[in-house]
Amino acid sequence: VRAPVLARWNSTEASMQREDAETELKNAKEFKGHDMLAPFTAGWQASDTNPLVIEKSKGAYVWDINGKKYLDSLAGLWCTALGGSEPRLVAAAIAQLNTLPFYHSFWNRTTKPSLDLAKELLNTFTATKMGKAFFTNSGSEANDTQVKLVWYYNNALGRPNKKKFIAREKSYHGSTLISASLSGLPALHQKFDLPAPFVLHTDCPHYWRYHLPGESEEEFSTRLANNLENLILKEGPETIAAFIAEPVMGAGGVIPPPATYFDKIQPILKKYDILFIADEVICAFGRLGTMFGCDKYGMKPDLVSMAKALSSAYMPIGAVLVSPEISDVIDSQSNKLGVFSHGFTYSGHPVSCAVALEALKIYKERNIAEVVQRISPKFQNGLKAFSDSPIIGEIRGTGLILGTEFTDNKSPNDVFPPEWGKFHLSFAFIFCIGAYFGAQCQKHGMLVRVAGDSIMMSPPFIITPEEVDELISIYGKALKATEERVK
Ligand code: PLP
Repeated sequence: VRAPVLARWNSTEASMQREDAETELKNAKEFKGHDMLAPFTAGWQASDTNPLVIEKSKGAYVWDINGKKYLDSLAGLWCTALGGSEPRLVAAAIAQLNTLPFYHSFWNRTTKPSLDLAKELLNTFTATKMGKAFFTNSGSEANDTQVKLVWYYNNALGRPNKKKFIAREKSYHGSTLISASLSGLPALHQKFDLPAPFVLHTDCPHYWRYHLPGESEEEFSTRLANNLENLILKEGPETIAAFIAEPVMGAGGVIPPPATYFDKIQPILKKYDILFIADEVICAFGRLGTMFGCDKYGMKPDLVSMAKALSSAYMPIGAVLVSPEISDVIDSQSNKLGVFSHGFTYSGHPVSCAVALEALKIYKERNIAEVVQRISPKFQNGLKAFSDSPIIGEIRGTGLILGTEFTDNKSPNDVFPPEWGKFHLSFAFIFCIGAYFGAQCQKHGMLVRVAGDSIMMSPPFIITPEEVDELISIYGKALKATEERVK
C-alpha cells in the first residue's frame, strides 16, 4: 500500500505540473464562455469555460474548429455506429427530404418510411416476438413511453395498483423526468426532486465492486436475484409493474452482467407477473457482437427501448417495441377510449425513419455483428493488457464497449481524492482522476467519456485494426502520464 495519494499530490512537483497544464490550456483557449445552457456540463455559467467545438467528422475521427483531429473513441455518445461520414445515410436523408421532409403519424395518418421501419424492426428483433413499434425522438422519450405504456396496459387490465418500476443503481435510462427517475445515478436526482416516488432501485450488478469475500460471480448473481425478490415481496408484487435493465450498463461505467445474472432475474419477474423492459439504447445493432444485447444474455423482454445506433445518430430517433400481448391490450383499450393519447410531433419522422432504414440495411448487408466480433478481441485484449497498472482498479467490457475504473491499490474502495482533476479547464468543476486521463487523451488526439473515476469507450463499428492500434497507443500514453501524477 502506497502513501495516501493526496500527500503525493500535494508535492511541489505535482503543483508545478498543475500550473503547466493550466497555462497550456489557457493559451489554447478559443471561446470565453458560451450562450448555451449545455447538457451535462459543469460551470457553463463561468466566463472562462472553454468548450471543445467540433466541426467535422470522417470515419472514426472528428476535428475541432482549430483543425485538431481526434479519434472519437465513444462514437459521439455511443451512437455513430457507422462513423462520421457514411454517404448512404446522407443520401437516404437527402432523398427523403426531397420527397417528403415531414408528415406526422397522428390520427391514423402516417408515412411509408415509418411503416417500413416498424416492420423491419419487428423482423430484426428476434429474442422474443414483438407485436408493434412506437417511435420517439430519443432514448429518454422511449423510456418515458415505456412507463406510460405499462401503466396504460395495467389500467386496461384493471390493475390500477400495479404501477411501480424497479430499476438498478448506476443504470442510465435518460434525463427526462421519468427516465432520469429510472436512472440509478444520484447526480440525475440531486436538486431535481427526483426520483419519482413510483421508482425503486435494486442492486447494481457490478461483481468487482460489490461481491463479498469469497463470493463467486454465480453466487453474487444469486444474492442479487434474492435481493430483488425480497424487494418485490416487501413492496407487494401486486404493486410492481415492471423491471428495466440495460444488457450492459453503459453510462454507469460499462458494467457487463455477472455470470447467470439475467437467468436468475427473469424467472422472478415471471413469478410475480412483472414486465421486463430491455433498455437496448446503447447495446442494440451490434455493439456487443450480437445484433442485440438480449441475444447475448438470453434476455426475453416484454418491451424494448432503442435509439442511438438505430440511425447511427445521423437523425434523432428512438423506438419502443412491445409484445403482441401488450399491443393487443393497448389496441382494445384505445378503441374503447377513442384514441391512444400519446405521441410526439416527430414520432416516426420520415427523414429519421428513412435514415434508420438505410442503417439497418447496411447492418444486415455488412453483417455488422460479425464485423464487431472480428475487431473486438483486438480492442478488448489490447486495452485489458493495461490492467496491471497500479492506478487501474478494473478494465471491463465486451464487444466494442469498454470501461476503465481508476482506483488506488487495486481496491474498489481506495478512490482517488476528487481534488485530483480540479486543475483542468476543459473539465472545469469535474474533480476526478478520470478527468486528468481524459485530458491527456485529448492532448494526444482522442476523445473519451469521463465519469468520475471511470472512463468509457465505445468506438464506431467501422473502426479499422490500425485505428484500434492508435486508440490503444493513445490510451497507453494517457495512462503513463496519469500514473506519473500519482507516483
Ligand atoms: N438509455 C440508455 C441505456 C442510454 O445510454 C441513454 C443515453 O445515453 C438513454 C437511454 C437516453 O437516450 P437519449 O440521450 O437519446 O435520450
